[in-house]
Amino acid sequence: MPKGMWVFVEHKDDKIRKVTFEMLSEARKLADQKGEELCAVVLGNNIGSFVEVIGQYGADKIYVLENELLSQYTTDGYTKALADLAKEQQPSILLFGATVIGKDLSPRVATRLGAGLATDCVKIGLDSEGKLTATRPMYAGKVIAEVGFSSDTPQMASVRPNILPAKVLSDSRKAEVIRLKTNISAADIKTTIVETIKTAGEKVDLTEADVIVSGGRGMKGPENFKILEELADVLDATVGASRAAVDAGWRLQIDQVGQTGKVVSPNLYIACGISGAIQHFAGMGTSKVIVAINKDPDAVIFGKCDYGIVDDLFKVVPIFTQECKKLRSE
Ligand SMILES: Cc1cc2nc3c(=O)[nH]c(=O)nc-3n(C[C@H](O)[C@H](O)[C@H](O)COP(=O)(O)OP(=O)(O)OC[C@H]3O[C@@H](n4cnc5c(N)ncnc54)[C@H](O)[C@@H]3O)c2cc1C
Repeated sequence: MPKGMWVFVEHKDDKIRKVTFEMLSEARKLADQKGEELCAVVLGNNIGSFVEVIGQYGADKIYVLENELLSQYTTDGYTKALADLAKEQQPSILLFGATVIGKDLSPRVATRLGAGLATDCVKIGLDSEGKLTATRPMYAGKVIAEVGFSSDTPQMASVRPNILPAKVLSDSRKAEVIRLKTNISAADIKTTIVETIKTAGEKVDLTEADVIVSGGRGMKGPENFKILEELADVLDATVGASRAAVDAGWRLQIDQVGQTGKVVSPNLYIACGISGAIQHFAGMGTSKVIVAINKDPDAVIFGKCDYGIVDDLFKVVPIFTQECKKLRSE
């Protein structure tokens, strides 16, 4: 008998990632339809009370799986611990964020469980038998696939951040916290984390940003990204880049949006000097509003954006920043 739907909780520095709350909110509706409980699964060591907030988003239970070997994320350690728990408890559905960790962990857990996995989904639901259904873009967004599951092993999906709304059901809602030990050993983990280097600044990760200002080859050089940083400061936005800008060495690879970069779904995506290649669109096509600034009226991006400005970005962006500053100070 399945023991409910599970959501894998991503956390760092005692903070839970937004995508976890988004999945819990959506999964709560599905758990109600299925008449099953909703469980959140947290892996780590010495996990504090910060996890209690999870109950507010609809979880009935929080499994806290602790071991000192889980203090930091490792592919081997987390895969073994989570797969062992899932084998024992047999959830019906297991959800992950389609984040760097979720994309690394979910296929490995699926393999251990012999389960099907739909990756990078933009929608999840249930079919008439109560099995998971998932909607996922494929082939750089050219095709939208509706995925179903044929078996009753856990039905697994990873869900793209910033797509589903996160909703607190009640501030006073609490979930039962169940603390468990896992018996993984050092021999289970084949890698060693030598050093963790934090990137400078406190900017929101691209995949969770509400607003992104991105620059492409049209920026003409790394120094010119300063005007995008200024606009981003006013809009509380994160700066992204096309692959052309990254390949030129103007921005770091972690800033790249697209098929071989990050997949983002902000409320507002401002593309500056980006032509709109299919590989770029694959990473930002699900943005709610797309604004393009490009001096070429025939640029492909104008066929894909909600608002287009045909002009020199070096003229438009500073004016845009000034106007936004004025609006913000009113
Ligand atoms: C397998 C594969 C994977 C890929 N993955 C990615 C990916 O993840 N992300 C990605 O972005 N690309 C990816 N690419 C590359 C992609 O095909 C394009 O080459 C790339 O997106 C182009 O970047 P761009 O739009 O910045 O440059 P360009 O295509 O050169 O466009 C620059 C634009 O800037 C405009 N411009 C120039 N000067 C100005 C100005 N002063 N004011 C306003 N506009 C100006 C031009 O009109 C032009 O439209 C991938 C390609 C392949 C084959």
